[in-house]
Amino acid sequence: MAPNTSRSREPGAVPLRKRPDTPLSGFVSGCRAIAFALFAAVFLVTSRADAAQAREILREDERSMLAFVAAAMDVRVDPAEPLPVVHLASRTTLARFREAMAPQWGFRPHVIINAYAVASNEIYLDDASEYYKRMHRTLDDSLAHELVHYLQVRYRRLDLTDESCEMEAVTIQTAYREHLALMARFARGARHEKNRSS
Ligand SMILES: [Zn+2]
Repeated sequence: MAPNTSRSREPGAVPLRKRPDTPLSGFVSGCRAIAFALFAAVFLVTSRADAAQAREILREDERSMLAFVAAAMDVRVDPAEPLPVVHLASRTTLARFREAMAPQWGFRPHVIINAYAVASNEIYLDDASEYYKRMHRTLDDSLAHELVHYLQVRYRRLDLTDESCEMEAVTIQTAYREHLALMARFARGARHEKNRSS
């Protein structure tokens, strides 16, 4: 009985062959063109949004930054002590950040923010330019801040929930930012003198 059933379906295929003559085909291709244009527009808007998300880069060397921070804290850096691994938000995953921070904070964060993960000895940094422009800070001085927390934990065995830890980190972060600004001013002055003498 099966062959009969399949034959009985054949007439149903006729309208399909006739489709190019119907006005519906114009409507369908019009819809396709609109869908394609919409897709292209969405793609353009999305890629523009990605381009607008400017990212900061670290300009200073982590070792010399650590030396500055350690001197400010009167800590002697032990070369055998492992340095923290630095993760930039644009190059890591929220899942990894959550896993690192949830036991320490007691909740699962929704976004990657600047933090020192004690158990995994990692530093996470939000590298979105917009944040630093708004806060008048730099990615470098944020790393200096987290390096203070690293030294507080690994060398002084302090508990980061202690408010004095955050106060010390902010103070040294500010000192480091001013130090960098001073260095930049010296470099500009030196270039100016060189140009005058040549
Ligand atoms: Zn802090």
